[in-house]
Amino acid sequence: MTVPYKHEPFTDFSIEDNVKQFEIALKKVKDELGKDYGLVIGAEKVSTEEKIVSVNPSNVSEVVGTVSKANKELTEKAMQVANKTFQTWKKWDPEVRADILFKAAAIVRRRKHEFSAYLVYEAGKPWNEADADTAEAIDFLEYYGRQMIELAKGYPIESRKIENNRLAYIPLGVGVVISPWNFAFAIMAGMTSAALVSGNTVLLKPASTTPVVAAKFIEVLEEAGLPAGVVNYIPGSGSEVGDYLVDHPKTRFISFTGSRDVGVRIYERAAKVHEGQIWLKRVVAEMGGKDTIIVDNQADLDLAAEAIVKSAFGFSGQKCSACSRAVIHQDVYDEVLRKTIALTKKLTVGDPAERTFMGPVNDQAAFDKVMKYIEIGKEEGTLVAGGKGDNSKGYFIEPTIFAGVNENARLMKEEIFGPVVAFCKATDFDHALEIANNTDYGLTGAVISNNRAHIEKAKEDFHVGNLYFNRGCTGAIVGYHPFGGFNMSGTDSKAGGPDYLLLFTQAKLMSEQL
Ligand code: GLU
Repeated sequence: MTVPYKHEPFTDFSIEDNVKQFEIALKKVKDELGKDYGLVIGAEKVSTEEKIVSVNPSNVSEVVGTVSKANKELTEKAMQVANKTFQTWKKWDPEVRADILFKAAAIVRRRKHEFSAYLVYEAGKPWNEADADTAEAIDFLEYYGRQMIELAKGYPIESRKIENNRLAYIPLGVGVVISPWNFAFAIMAGMTSAALVSGNTVLLKPASTTPVVAAKFIEVLEEAGLPAGVVNYIPGSGSEVGDYLVDHPKTRFISFTGSRDVGVRIYERAAKVHEGQIWLKRVVAEMGGKDTIIVDNQADLDLAAEAIVKSAFGFSGQKCSACSRAVIHQDVYDEVLRKTIALTKKLTVGDPAERTFMGPVNDQAAFDKVMKYIEIGKEEGTLVAGGKGDNSKGYFIEPTIFAGVNENARLMKEEIFGPVVAFCKATDFDHALEIANNTDYGLTGAVISNNRAHIEKAKEDFHVGNLYFNRGCTGAIVGYHPFGGFNMSGTDSKAGGPDYLLLFTQAKLMSEQL
């Protein structure tokens, strides 16, 4: 009997012993950086000539690890293995599949700081963000395991006297998981474990900047007793491996988290039925966001400033949930801006291994993109904090605030995915909602208000998948805040929610005449 689900607690770094333990993990992981990881195809570890080199974004001369790179031929081989393994894996008892997830969660929990340390080096995550990423990975394993046990019971349906009816949710087939670098552990492990626990086999293509933590997770699954061939690890380029798998007639579903451009491309390609394909592919896509925090005139303004700072600059704003627009009621605009600037000026930026608040952005392309938006911001608003970048050693950008940005400016419309927030003045609460909804996206949003009528109005009219009140707009917790958005934010597949596994199954009705 499994104990009821409870989310993994975050490490309290005000406790000296926790600091010490984390430092030990950082040192241990640093000493083992630079290893080589092979592809995993069935029971085979395949080493290729061509490699993906994963570097530390805080110090690009430091190699976190090298990873073999799949080509079309190896990808095809992995597909065949996954397809064959599906025939046996789908028959495994769902409870046993769930047990593998529980075991994997226990292994990660025992080595929690080690995984977080990898995230510090490979993803440039500050301690608390890395710790939350690892905790979320554990949560996904624990939660989806339990959800599978529930789902295996089927949904109750009616039967007449003359019949016995049953509705069962059966697996789909081979799934392609294309995971992001920003939650390099949590989302990668969540997407993979949801697919596999539902009885599917998986081809995992991790993000090219964070393949090492994914390789570590594959080792954990193996140790937890996952049979060979259920999850195959095939890092490679999007245009080679990604496209090949998305187009493949044996691909049954694609589970993707990443940028809007790539998500739309996958969605379009997956719609085409290829020769030999006997189904319509399912696409589960989590894409971008242009997320807003609204501050009302009756509100706790300190709370508002804290929520904006944490949501805009936590992990350098590289979350699809990040606050990139602060829409403030004109009565309190100046005060909220002043408080937010004051808090922002206290933030530390630098190598996250040294316990800074903010580390680097992901890579050169991210650095260039964010710096480009900072230039655009200078045209569209007034730079009131930050604005500088330094990529001499790693990809560091200051937490940046633009004030007085017009609601139709590019800064208010386009996803930046970096530590940049635009402040925009609203004449009243209705206007604030109008500005917030004026976007192609619809992922997260928050309202800071003590006005009950306004809170209720926002519940009706603020069109986002995850709406929060009197808190920031990041930090959804598995099982508590099912996560996913509307419109161009994706397919509103609620990761960490009670209906998520349904996306990886198909319902079969069995009716026996008595
Ligand atoms: N679930 C995360 C949050 O609530 C964001 C995930 C993402 O950026 O993809 O902050």
